[in-house]
Amino acid sequence: MQFRALYDFLLRHSPILLTTHVHPDGDAVSSLLAFGFLCRRLGRDAVMYMADPIPDRFRFLPRAGDVVVVGAGSLPRKYEGAVILDVGSRDRIGKVEDFLAPSVEIVNIDHHISNDQFGNINLLHLDASATSQIIYDIFCDFGFTPTPSEATCIYTGILSDTGRFRFSNTTSRALEVASCLVNLGANPAYLADRIYYEVPLEAVQAMGKALTTLEMFGDGQVCTLFLSGDDEVQDSDALVDLALSIQGVEVALLFCEMDDGRVRISLRSKNRVNVSELAEHFGGGGHFKAAGVRMRGTLQSARDRLLPMVLDAVEIPQLGVTPA
Ligand code: 5GP
Ligand code: MN
Repeated sequence: MQFRALYDFLLRHSPILLTTHVHPDGDAVSSLLAFGFLCRRLGRDAVMYMADPIPDRFRFLPRAGDVVVVGAGSLPRKYEGAVILDVGSRDRIGKVEDFLAPSVEIVNIDHHISNDQFGNINLLHLDASATSQIIYDIFCDFGFTPTPSEATCIYTGILSDTGRFRFSNTTSRALEVASCLVNLGANPAYLADRIYYEVPLEAVQAMGKALTTLEMFGDGQVCTLFLSGDDEVQDSDALVDLALSIQGVEVALLFCEMDDGRVRISLRSKNRVNVSELAEHFGGGGHFKAAGVRMRGTLQSARDRLLPMVLDAVEIPQLGVTPA
């Protein structure tokens, strides 16, 4: 059994807290739900928590309604055992931190290169396309065949983190696992339509507004976009990807105003710039070609801080580094 330490952990603890990162994406939601199903299979009492609500487009997923969103008024119950999914550093779980006992034992299951190994047990599979793909491996390792609901969650995580089977993490293994999941009941056409082709009109209009802020730097190699706090796009990934798709652009940066006075920045690179390294410099992280960071200040001041370093990075190709 490859995941023996995890198995023993799950038998040792009850109840168990399960969580993922703030501003959850498809893989965060899906790996959390899939792990919730896994705990149920083992007869464990596991509660799924999130610091932020599940984005609308993922709310149809099985058991999405069972996730507890931590609010300002919730009275923290302290857990001695926690499984943290798709999270590179502990501060990324946000307010769920208040639910962890000082002596908590943590399992960290993730695939980000920037992961700082914050767990007592660290299951880091950097070659996995998505954390959900690791959960698939755990299901198999424990001898469980995913049900259609479980397959749907895991498939959604892979679909989302591979950018709909487009990014460089779309490996033969990712496709193989996706194929197994389809055989087990995940429906690719239904899921793609449900997640990507049911966009509210206001969200499309907000994207249009953000596109009017588009600016180019560094001889057209760097593109920036601003999204003000009043405008909510359904899929900020799609927006930053559109900026990155411009001919000649190597790095695209999307700056989004958050409610708490900070700015959330999404960094994407096409080929040679390691944006995770850039994000890490400011306390963020992620993958070679997709990373994020949060900063205090305005959209403009955040760009002023980040841009010089990005311009440096595009001018000096980072040779010798293999894109992940
Ligand atoms: P996004 O731009 O979609 O929010 O994030 C891109 C990638 O970077 C995701 O894999 C996400 O988990 C990671 N990421 C985003 N923001 C942060 C952050 O503040 N810190 C860390 N460590 N990773 C981040
Ligand atoms: Mn992920």
